[in-house]
Amino acid sequence: MLEMREVSKVYRTETVETHALRGFSLKVDEGEFVAVTGPSGSGKTTFLTIAGLLEDFTRGEYLLDGVNVHGMNDNQRSRLRNEKIGFVFQAFNLIPDLNVVDNVEVPLHYRHMSGGERRKRALAALERVGLSARLKHYPAELSGGQQQRVAIARALAGSPRLLLADEPTGNLDTAMARGVMELIEEIHREGATIIMVTHDPELAARAQRNVHIVDGMATGVSEEPRFHPGLR
Ligand code: ADP
Ligand code: ADP
Repeated sequence: MLEMREVSKVYRTETVETHALRGFSLKVDEGEFVAVTGPSGSGKTTFLTIAGLLEDFTRGEYLLDGVNVHGMNDNQRSRLRNEKIGFVFQAFNLIPDLNVVDNVEVPLHYRHMSGGERRKRALAALERVGLSARLKHYPAELSGGQQQRVAIARALAGSPRLLLADEPTGNLDTAMARGVMELIEEIHREGATIIMVTHDPELAARAQRNVHIVDGMATGVSEEPRFHPGLR
């Protein structure tokens, strides 16, 4: 599904140069569920934003479905991103002025799709996350767990082959976190590739493989791939 070879990312400001990734290499197969762990500041989020084509990198190669994305312009990157990738963030990132169903439709506006088709997909995704009764609510009127389910519905509506999740349960209590995690596992069973950043060892243990990042490098893949009921 994706392969990074010796990817480096340097953030430069007037005075500071931060090497967020240094020669980072990782290969993730189609249909895998990978958890990414590592200390704060080690480069986990940077890896995810590069993997998700939200940012370019400084050196190295990144192949997404065999296509080298280095040097693509913003248009090419967003087209590819909207075709293949869904995101779930710790901070939900819902638009406060839009109700639930309109939030879920946002990424679909970048696809060639009629308004009717957008609505149909958004409603189906919201049904899957159990929020059909909340279509006209605004984010502020929902619990954290419900907001995260809206964010997952937004990711699902585009039927992404790759789901990138950054601490998806980080702002949720245990019960709500469990629901969100089960939803992500279900999306995996249906065939999507999942990459999830988490600092929670219990969540990481539920993935098929763990990748640990230290100082911008993947240090070791701490687990053998294990049996997963969704593996065909
Ligand atoms: P993690 O997700 O593991 O906590 P990050 O990928 O967010 O780590 O950050 C890696 C390093 O890059 C940190 O030192 C962070 O301060 C730096 N960094 C991240 N984003 C930026 C940015 N936009 N500008 C400058 N430095 C950044
Ligand atoms: P960490 O990975 O360090 O535990 P976060 O994932 O919350 O922390 O955020 C790391 C950095 O990435 C922060 O600077 C945050 O503002 C930025 N970030 C998080 N989510 C998004 C997003 N959806 N779009 C752009 N930047 C984001």
